[in-house]
Amino acid sequence: MTNFRLATFTLLTATTLTLAACSPQSSKTSPTQASGAEASVATAVIPTERFFTADQFTYANYQDIVVKHAALDLTVDFDRKVLDGAVTIRFERLKPDVQTLTLDTKDLTIKAVELKTDQGWTPATYAMGEADTVLGSAMNITVGAEATQVKITYETSPKAEGLQWLSPEQTAGKKKPYLFSQAQALYARTMLPVQDTPAVRMTYEASLRVPEGLLPLMSASQDGQDADGNWTFSMPQPIPSYLIAIAVGDIKFKAINDTIGVYAEDYILEASAEEFAQTPEMEVANTELYGPYRWGRYDLLVLPPSFPFGGMENPRLSFMTPTLIAGDKSLTNVVAHELAHSWSGNLVTNSNWRDAWLNEGFTSYVENRVMEDLYGEGRAVMEQSLDMEGLKRAISEAKRPELTQLKLPDDMAHPDDAFTLVSYIKGANFLFFLEDRFGREAFDPFLKSYFNAYAFQSVTTEDFLAFMDANIRVDFPDAVTDAEIREWVYGQGLPATARNPQSDAFDKVAAASALWVSGDITAAELPSTDWSTHEWLQFLNGLPALTPAQMTELDETYNLTGTQNAETAFAWYMQAIKNGYAPAMPALEEFLMSVGRGKFIYRLYGALKDNGQADMAGRIFAKAKAGYHPIAQRRIDDILAK
Ligand SMILES: [Zn+2]
Repeated sequence: MTNFRLATFTLLTATTLTLAACSPQSSKTSPTQASGAEASVATAVIPTERFFTADQFTYANYQDIVVKHAALDLTVDFDRKVLDGAVTIRFERLKPDVQTLTLDTKDLTIKAVELKTDQGWTPATYAMGEADTVLGSAMNITVGAEATQVKITYETSPKAEGLQWLSPEQTAGKKKPYLFSQAQALYARTMLPVQDTPAVRMTYEASLRVPEGLLPLMSASQDGQDADGNWTFSMPQPIPSYLIAIAVGDIKFKAINDTIGVYAEDYILEASAEEFAQTPEMEVANTELYGPYRWGRYDLLVLPPSFPFGGMENPRLSFMTPTLIAGDKSLTNVVAHELAHSWSGNLVTNSNWRDAWLNEGFTSYVENRVMEDLYGEGRAVMEQSLDMEGLKRAISEAKRPELTQLKLPDDMAHPDDAFTLVSYIKGANFLFFLEDRFGREAFDPFLKSYFNAYAFQSVTTEDFLAFMDANIRVDFPDAVTDAEIREWVYGQGLPATARNPQSDAFDKVAAASALWVSGDITAAELPSTDWSTHEWLQFLNGLPALTPAQMTELDETYNLTGTQNAETAFAWYMQAIKNGYAPAMPALEEFLMSVGRGKFIYRLYGALKDNGQADMAGRIFAKAKAGYHPIAQRRIDDILAK
């Protein structure tokens, strides 16, 4: 596992890698950088030896036999809260004598299993394994030596962890129900029988029947309705199962340009299109840095407030929380993040969740580069600085020290443990470190060649390290040492070589904050007129314990209680909880009742509990729980039970 030996290499021919030819030249890219990119891509060498890390969160025998395509044919039944229908799976044997196809399932009702033979579809023998609370049940299908397709008729459970069924009252429009999925990390198996590991990539298509007046969307090309009125979808690029996604609701569309647009409920459609108006510029910035966008359209779906994440990078259709709609484009780094996944994560994918930093660390790094491109270095550094504070807190609060490694341990209890700021921000900072050492002129084309070399493949940390050895360390042998890399990847905590982001703007905020805290100036005298959301967050997060009079002064001067910017509201309510500021509590309760985004609600519930307000936390959770996503319900149950 901690293997740093150099593998043997094959030289990739220029004809195999044609990326450079179709890469647009950027006005922001110096001629040296552009030609460097082409030179690097043309000569990229791909290690012939691939490194394998077993995925402990799948039953699938994917090293013997792999799923290549899934064709879904489903009825979306809002009355019963189930997906009901069939999936036809095409598979390929990697070992000729394999007779069993093992799939992951969780809480599925299997009604029939058939194999395609010369005689048509014939019943197949299958056996379900014992149910595990995390992994679900293995489904072992006897496929014989010849068959290459199996059809499974099934339905999902109303309790499927990957699906949230909202009643009309839980939507903004209040008239029609809503369904959305969240398959990452291991919930695709609650939606269909599948090899539910990021190591396996497949194409998919779907035919959906939905109630009249509702629009279904998938992480695929939206191909419209067929003659029977079924909605059809196709995903021609091979993707891992966690990127299969569905949403059904009273959803409208507004174009941003010819290839990018926004889907949302009516009430927030215009505001979303305005908030995300710079998405085309983000795509250009990404493309100039890392090569073409390879997925056709890129659309954003703004979900109801119970969506538990900031965003989810479902290909062609990122799912986004409505809490990003601040009215001033101050929180659009999440769009940059989800879009960046079109390269890191969706194009080149971590082959198991122990390597989650390959998805999230790379994406957080790319996100910041794109933010710098669009908004300048000042904002990029402010975001780095806020992230670094979050990372330090995440490291100090880690459940186990092993969970602060980039390469996560082989005994993680749940893949959710991989989705902490360690993967995101420590991962990004490893790449900042490498960028600093190699220089952008070399590092940018190197990353571009990595995305190109492993496009539509799933890779491990060790694959990346071997690629780095072969393609950039070979040219700059003294830039980084093995020990430094080992500390970053396999070590715990934050390495001494981590970048220390220094924001002049934040220094000024800190100085002003100190003057106000010590009573030298009033709250109204804070130089906040031009403060961005980032500066407000830095100010609020950096406050020491305050007196009731100071809390009241701040609130009365800036109307922080009830602010519509979700990030500012969150930072303020954390202070309100810590300082026992009662006037903010009704607004905090309203926030917890109306927002389901985990980033906010997990810490707010945790802070209430840690500050002697466990009763209040329990009371609000009892009321809010039904409106939260199943993933969020489980996390908060854990937080309040500790
Ligand atoms: Zn991400």
